[in-house]
Amino acid sequence: MNLSLELLPKKCDVLVIGAGPSGSAAAYTLAKAGLDVVLIDQHAFPRDKICGDGLIPDAHKALARLGVLDEVMRQAHPSRFLSCISPRGGRIDVAGTMAVLPRKQLDDIVCKAAVAAGARMFAPVRFIAPIEEDGKVVGARLTQSGTECELRATWVVLATGAVPQALMAAGMAERHAPSAIAMRCYIRNDAMTAKIDKLEVIWHKTLAPGYGWIFPCGDGVFNVGVGILHQPSDPADKRNPSRDKSGAANLHQMFEALGKLSEPARELMAGGTRVGPLKGAPLRCSLKGARLSRPGLLVTGEAAGSTYAFSGEGIGKALETGILAAEAILQGAGGDEARVRAHYTSRIDALRPRFMLYERANLVNRYPWLADLLIWRARKSARLQQRLSGVLNETSNPGHLFTVKGMVRLFTE
Ligand SMILES: Cc1cc2nc3c(=O)[nH]c(=O)nc-3n(C[C@H](O)[C@H](O)[C@H](O)COP(=O)(O)OP(=O)(O)OC[C@H]3O[C@@H](n4cnc5c(N)ncnc54)[C@H](O)[C@@H]3O)c2cc1C
Repeated sequence: MNLSLELLPKKCDVLVIGAGPSGSAAAYTLAKAGLDVVLIDQHAFPRDKICGDGLIPDAHKALARLGVLDEVMRQAHPSRFLSCISPRGGRIDVAGTMAVLPRKQLDDIVCKAAVAAGARMFAPVRFIAPIEEDGKVVGARLTQSGTECELRATWVVLATGAVPQALMAAGMAERHAPSAIAMRCYIRNDAMTAKIDKLEVIWHKTLAPGYGWIFPCGDGVFNVGVGILHQPSDPADKRNPSRDKSGAANLHQMFEALGKLSEPARELMAGGTRVGPLKGAPLRCSLKGARLSRPGLLVTGEAAGSTYAFSGEGIGKALETGILAAEAILQGAGGDEARVRAHYTSRIDALRPRFMLYERANLVNRYPWLADLLIWRARKSARLQQRLSGVLNETSNPGHLFTVKGMVRLFTE
């Protein structure tokens, strides 16, 4: 781990840029199949990542495929339910396989698995720009402590997350602005361990167009945060008392508001101690905002917008799209460049309907009274609860759930 640039080879089969869930999953899959893989990250590992640290069922499945689920669950705080809490205090517990593990630990586990599979990890090393020949990416220019070097690779996988600089340098950004922004901090409050034992997501007009969360990490520590859609010109923002005069989101005010919305939140935040600062970061969602590929290069994970709108969950799909990028490269190992890109695009396209469902569910963030309606109805309908659980567990994809037709059906079935 964290090798220095002096040991960098001149060439490799695949250069993976970014050792978050997506990059490490790609590196693991490629190295395990016997390819010569170099993985780089601008930060030495283990490194912190601003996140809610929630692992929903898709993350569990992907971690199992990478052979690290047992190790993750040895360190994580498990939960069988995601509690959804509406503005009027209504609540339903949606059943699913969930857990919470701070990203410093999670990402380290996945990165170590990639290294154990044979990938060579160089860090802190930053990607500057691709090396191009006849319009094809054939490697990258990298830097460490002011020293620059070049690495040639048959494929470059860009897994650099939501910050757009690397995407822009690679000529892959279609949009610089994020889809959403979110902020979190860790709060210790031992007295709340028994009172908040599920992952909680909270909607309220003071958080619109967004949401808040309280995720128990275990040992009396909670990951508490707020997120908001990044739409500064949205007139709905200006009606909200938690916005400043320009209408821009004020996540700090939203965070304070979260501590007044329910009795457990009040108790947790008023009686707890902050462990570290409140920190924010962007999100890129809905498989939008970037090109997926160009000759010699694939974009994966949140750089490709692989985070779900509505809930901001992205670890599972970052891992999954990293695996898909690797599988596409392995499938075209004979040298058919166009086939690799077509294969990757078709696998990503197959995920789009699910991302569209989460995009439509954004209505609830925008109009939180819909959460009152949905939760009130779900409490009376075992079938609706099952459907919500099916969405969370990815066993069903009821595309109509957040359409006008779907809303009408809420009252008719
Ligand atoms: C506040 C917040 C809360 C969230 N909560 C959750 C949650 O509870 N559950 C969930 O599933 N998802 C959550 N997400 C989303 C989740 O964090 C992302 O979906 C996930 O991190 C994406 O993984 P990735 O591997 O694509 O990118 P990242 O995890 O961002 O990894 C990208 C890596 O690339 C490196 N990098 C970037 N640029 C360069 C460069 N030029 N050179 C070298 N390296 C570079 C970075 O250092 C980083 O290590 C949250 C996000 C935020 C902001």
